[in-house]
Amino acid sequence: MTPLSGWLAGIRSLLAPAGIHCLICGHNSRPSARLPGICAGCEAGIPWISRPRCHKCGRHVGCPDCSRSGQSAPIVCNRSAVAYTPVMRDLLGRYKYRGHERLAPLLGQMLDSAYLQLKAYIEHLQYPPQVPTEKQNKYHFLRRKTANLTIEWQADLLVPVPVSDSRLTERGFNQAERLADILSRLRGIPQLPLLIRTQHTAKQSFKSRAERIADMKDAFAVSPDEQVNIQFSSRLSTVKASGRPLQIIIIDDIYTTGSTIRACAGAVRLLCAGYGIEADIYSLTWARS
Ligand SMILES: [Zn+2]
Ligand SMILES: [Zn+2]
Repeated sequence: MTPLSGWLAGIRSLLAPAGIHCLICGHNSRPSARLPGICAGCEAGIPWISRPRCHKCGRHVGCPDCSRSGQSAPIVCNRSAVAYTPVMRDLLGRYKYRGHERLAPLLGQMLDSAYLQLKAYIEHLQYPPQVPTEKQNKYHFLRRKTANLTIEWQADLLVPVPVSDSRLTERGFNQAERLADILSRLRGIPQLPLLIRTQHTAKQSFKSRAERIADMKDAFAVSPDEQVNIQFSSRLSTVKASGRPLQIIIIDDIYTTGSTIRACAGAVRLLCAGYGIEADIYSLTWARS
């Protein structure tokens, strides 16, 4: 090896991305450029819900639930980052039940992609793309002016779904609050644990859809914490001045029947009504089953 080729090989090894111990497959592989802690191969296998089939609940497969319920839901819509496949179930299980904290940045970053989807959808609803008129086509500067009127949508508040005290003791953390924390930092939107769980509901996974819905009625209430309430009313004052509805996103790890999200939204809506303010409530979850 000539001194020059040795030097080039050294540079090449410095430039080559180092392998990482992937949090999903456990192999030492080339890291994903976009998601922290996993390899490029596992990133390629993530079941993103990039085109939800149901615009209401963000489901990736045909959805009878939204049409079946018939009643006006307390949320505008839900968006979820991924489909709850066995690989995703295992990933969430390792985080939630086995406390693998290192997974938090990965899951948070994935939730952020659902936030961007929700944002794009709301902007599309509020400011549908305008078809330029004949006059605007003739005068380009007019068209540019119209385009500039598009305002970026931003949520006012993230509200995590609470867990009961006994579950908090058991797990040591609330996974929804952790996810909300990460999104809050990434997007600069305040996060507030506005709700508490008033009933300790048994594990939802063993229940039928009807049982889950009946279970969730009155399961949540507004937190009695004075600091939380002070922070909430201070957020309200800025929104009240603008005269628009408060934009709230409820955050959870998984959306199954939506009964948890709807119950939380109901509690938040009651609170807002008490303050005499209108609210548009949305939800974001990491996975959609
Ligand atoms: Zn991997
Ligand atoms: Zn749906």
